Amino acid sequence: MSGRILVVDDVATNRMLLAARLGADYYDVTTAANGRDALEICAREAPDLVLLDVVMPELDGFEVCRRIKSDPQLHHIPVVMITALNEPEERVRGLEAGADDFLTKPVNELELNARVRNLLRMKMMIDEMRLRVETTQSLGLEAVRAELDVDVSGANVMIVAAEPDSARRRADILRKALDVRVRIPPNDREALTMAEAAPPDAFLIDRRLPAGGDGLRLVSALRSRQSTRASAIVLVAPEGDAASAAKGLDLGAGDYLFEPVDAAELVARMRSQLRRKRYADELRDTLLDGLRLAVTDPLTGLFNRRYAATHLQGLIRNARDGELGVMMMDIDRFKQVNDTYGHAAGDAVLREFARRLKANVRGADLTARLGGEEFLVAMPDARREAVAAAAERVRAAIQEPPFDIGDREIPVTVSIGVAMYAPGDGAESLIEAADAALYASKNGGRNRVTFRDAA
Ligand SMILES: [Mg+2]
Repeated sequence: MSGRILVVDDVATNRMLLAARLGADYYDVTTAANGRDALEICAREAPDLVLLDVVMPELDGFEVCRRIKSDPQLHHIPVVMITALNEPEERVRGLEAGADDFLTKPVNELELNARVRNLLRMKMMIDEMRLRVETTQSLGLEAVRAELDVDVSGANVMIVAAEPDSARRRADILRKALDVRVRIPPNDREALTMAEAAPPDAFLIDRRLPAGGDGLRLVSALRSRQSTRASAIVLVAPEGDAASAAKGLDLGAGDYLFEPVDAAELVARMRSQLRRKRYADELRDTLLDGLRLAVTDPLTGLFNRRYAATHLQGLIRNARDGELGVMMMDIDRFKQVNDTYGHAAGDAVLREFARRLKANVRGADLTARLGGEEFLVAMPDARREAVAAAAERVRAAIQEPPFDIGDREIPVTVSIGVAMYAPGDGAESLIEAADAALYASKNGGRNRVTFRDAA
């Protein structure tokens, strides 16, 4: 995995040591000797990861981290704080400042590699989603909150521990501090079953589990399942077992703690994992909203032309001779509505037209606004009589009663052209045939339905 890493430390030998180690793994390394330079490089080069010394003159690591994490342009860059102090309070302070992870000096090489790989992998995933959100939606970054603002209360946590007592103790700590809901399955098999039925937001898993269970195996199983793929995982490794911790991160855990578990560190790490999980959930939802926007017409909520053209091709692939009907429709003299009553009234007419249209076709039918006052309906699995009945129903529903727009009633009618699918038809030829029938309806005096073979 490649990535651009910024190493920040006020001591030159520390910078060189880390840069050499990371450079040997083919990362692209930049260094900064103080907090001010670090922030400048972040703004200019947007690195993929920052390794940040805590104790520095002027701006210390906590302050630099806080500034990165409160800047909407930078807050998604993962920050690993590096301190000589192996004090839980320092870690908690760092995590509260928004640090994604912690390393202590002297930096263990195994741990450094595992943490860096893990965070870069996470960032690539988040970057990809951010990009898609920005592409599908012009709202861009403002629509997505900073990860630090994400509230974790009400989240679901599952604790899979070696002993029921320690599981209960940890559950109490998390409930009190984070207002989360906690479930405690008796073993790893039960954990998988319960998680399949109701996937939690996060797992807290012991490396050693009862009845010959293995926390690392459980991490791997949870990561490979669709239902729990997005859940956060925190591994609890035996004291000093850096190899298990690193293996856990490689298998997909988001973070780890060593035994004996410190309450404040447990809370800080779990909070940070839950925030990231919910942040990713939010991005995913925004992305889905964006996709929905990309296929619908914002004024009427009907599908748009692009979606209709693609979907119609699918309907044609599945269609049998004479069992797919396509209607093209056009509101009669719509320009006069706009000219007489104004564009706001015109929009209201289009919305009401769409509502009546949908109310008079089946749920499975494709209804789309192709643009302007032009609409399309495709009816799969429908014979000619059913299509004719639906077309007539729509025509009548538009004509009566007149459209009630604000304080006035506007008479509206629609002309409809229909083509039934025949072998050899493609989406284009079917739409063209329905369109030709529509113009026959217009020429025949409007407010009527014409079939392709009668046109
Ligand atoms: Mg220092």
